[in-house]
Amino acid sequence: MRVDVLTLFPEMFDGVFHSSILGKAQEKGIVSLNAVNFRDYAGNKHSTVDDTPYGGGGGMVLKAEPIFRAVEDLLGKTEESSEELPTVSSGSGESVIEPTQRAPRIILMCPQGEPFSQRKAEELAGEEHLIFICGHYEGYDERIREHLVTDELSIGDYVLTGGELPAMVMIDSVTRLLPGVLGNEMSAVTDSFSTGLLEYPHYTRPVEFRGWKVPDILLSGHHANVADWRRKEALRRTWLRRPDLLNSLELTSQDAKWLKEFETERNN
Ligand code: SAM
Repeated sequence: MRVDVLTLFPEMFDGVFHSSILGKAQEKGIVSLNAVNFRDYAGNKHSTVDDTPYGGGGGMVLKAEPIFRAVEDLLGKTEESSEELPTVSSGSGESVIEPTQRAPRIILMCPQGEPFSQRKAEELAGEEHLIFICGHYEGYDERIREHLVTDELSIGDYVLTGGELPAMVMIDSVTRLLPGVLGNEMSAVTDSFSTGLLEYPHYTRPVEFRGWKVPDILLSGHHANVADWRRKEALRRTWLRRPDLLNSLELTSQDAKWLKEFETERNN
């Protein structure tokens, strides 16, 4: 997978892209992570990328041209480096790129966007090329939203100074899902949200710590019983902390029995 991030602060990505699991994923050639300064595409003498808003009011607005030019340059590079031609299918406006088979996703970091989720991370992990656009100041010229991007994503109902941290969050969660990135392929499969539930509790050595013991069943070596215990505890944790998640889960008859058991325990 190739990931490009358009930002005014590419140096912010140095540590994140070259450390830990993301750094290793790049070394293994599974992903290529590039931060691009869209000020390089300003196209004016003072490299200005923002301007005052029409209609007045405070704050500066990111101009459309530098961001369009940066994206078009990246897509041109994609055309040179592979047989595929890019496409942009913006939901609300016409595209700057001719439609073809494989479309890079052009993703705007935006507090007004669709809330980012594990489902979205899984969807994006199936793509070959992602382009993230990090805003700053008051926001973007609306024509970027209308005619360039394929997705607008938010990491939560709060406002940050820029899109760099949200882009890092999303790139991290997508990269760890790519085959070969995590040591144990299974570890992402049982993660919270991947299964629709929060993950079950974990324990490691020693068996007893300050008088607190590991549940016997985890020491039994009986795989089926351990799997049952984990499902039940994942269900219990979700029921306690995030009951909203249970609404979109297909419950087995055993799950339903366990949920009744939790209710009974609570009422006694
Ligand atoms: N005036 C904008 C509004 O009210 O929606 C907020 C602009 S914010 C100060 C500057 C930039 O930070 C945004 O354009 C976006 O790129 C990024 N940003 C801030 N909060 C975010 C969030 N929760 N999720 C994604 N991006 C965010």
